[in-house]
Order: sequence, then structure tokens, then C-alpha cells
Amino acid sequence: MTITPEPGRNAVVTLTGVTKEYPGGVAALRGVDLAIAERELLAIVGPSGSGKSTLLHIVGTLDKPTAGTVTLAGHDVGTLTDRRLSALRAQHVGFVFQAFHLVPGASALANVAEGLRYSGLTRAERHRRAAEALGRVGLADRMKHRPHELSGGQKQRVAIARAVAGEPDVLLADEPTGALDSASGEAVMELLHELNADGATIAVITHDMELAQSLPRQVRIRDGRVVDDKLRGCPAAAGGAR
Ligand code: ADP
Ligand code: MG
Repeated sequence: MTITPEPGRNAVVTLTGVTKEYPGGVAALRGVDLAIAERELLAIVGPSGSGKSTLLHIVGTLDKPTAGTVTLAGHDVGTLTDRRLSALRAQHVGFVFQAFHLVPGASALANVAEGLRYSGLTRAERHRRAAEALGRVGLADRMKHRPHELSGGQKQRVAIARAVAGEPDVLLADEPTGALDSASGEAVMELLHELNADGATIAVITHDMELAQSLPRQVRIRDGRVVDDKLRGCPAAAGGAR
């Protein structure tokens, strides 16, 4: 079962037969086939422990599968050295985590600019792009604030600005609203919709069915397997129809 993207859309990331076993014999993923096409906004949904974060780490090349292949931006990840893989990841993937992972004591601008450290850009250009990204997430007036001076929703906006400042091919968000109150969570989801409307490819990991159903595509995972893949409410991808 290989899922192919709609005609005219290129796959940004493709997983084929991906299995991940952790030491001690836990099989977190068992034969996952998944393709994420450019400009998609999809939810990866499943109960706690089903393998969502493991999948995100493998899609984002933070971790390698035990078996199967991962292709990112046309590169077979398994054939690359760690150094080339880091460069590929820095260029093509942006991450957002539930716990924000901002540097305490550093301004919003410095936090976002830090995300561009390995971009090869000059410091001035990194700061220019960081300011632009903060503008995109609605924080133009909070550039100098440090994380402890920002609300949870604002911190997650800074993290999203950091993730998109380098214009990655895919943005991977692991429970991005999990630490937020519902109003801030909704605002963060609205922002992800806006970024997607502007052309960003985004995968949102969540255990929240309602949130998943608000997105154009839902990939359901259970016990390390994709058990359902629906596009705009239609039974979809899993037969190769996409
Ligand atoms: P989810 O994000 O859906 O809650 P995870 O991908 O974090 O699920 O975990 C899937 C399974 O793999 C769980 O059984 C978890 O305990 C196990 N697991 C996750 N990370 C590790 C690890 N580093 N070492 C061993 N087992 C792990
Ligand atoms: Mg998780």
C-alpha cells in the first residue's frame, strides 16, 4: 500500500514500510506507508502511546527507522551521513513542540533568529528574516519580549515563527495546542491554517479528534499502524487513489 499524492502535487516526505523498534523490543511503528504532499495540512491522530511522536521524529529525520525507507525532498534519508542529514533537516523541516522549547532569557527575536543559525545567512539577514517571521505570526510588537514575558499562546507563536523563518518544505507540529487553553489553542490552529493558505505544508500530531477533524486530511494511527487515512471527510488515500 503506497499512498501517492494528488496529480500535480509533489511528495515532500514519503515513508515506505517504516518500522521502528526501540531497544527492549517495543515496536512503536509497524510498517507505516505515508506520503505528505506539498501544501497539505494534515492531522496525524491517535491515542497516547500509538506512535505519533515516533512518527514525527522519523518524518522529520530526527530518528531513523529500524526498517523501511524515508525520502525527504527527494533524498533517501538512510543513505546520508549524519552531517548531510542535519543539513537536509535544517533546510527542509521546521518543528513545533507542545512545550515550545524556547531559550529562556533570550528575546523572541533572538529565539527565532537562532533557528536560522545553520542557514549560512549573515547575522543581519537572520535578524531581518526573524523579524519578518514574527510579523507573520502577529508578534511584531513583541520582538524584544523574553519567553517569561509572553503568554503560552504567544510563546507557541514564537516557536512557529522560528519553525517557518527558514521556509522549510514541511512544518511538523507535535501536539502544538496541548499546553494551551482552548482560546489560545484555537488561535494557534488558525495561524497554522493561514500559513497553509500561504503555501506551507503542515502535519499536526494530535490526540484530539475534534482538532483532527478540522483539518483537510486525517491520518489515524493505532498501535504503530496507519488504520485510516481520510481526505476532506472522504475515505481516501489508503487505496492509492491519491
Ligand atoms: P505517542 O506520541 O502517540 O504518545 P510515542 O511515539 O511517544 O507515542 O510512543 C510509542 C511507543 O513507543 C510507546 O509504547 C512508547 O512507550 C514507546 N517509546 C517511545 N519512545 C521510546 C524510547 N525512546 N525508548 C523506548 N520506547 C519508547
Ligand atoms: Mg507524543
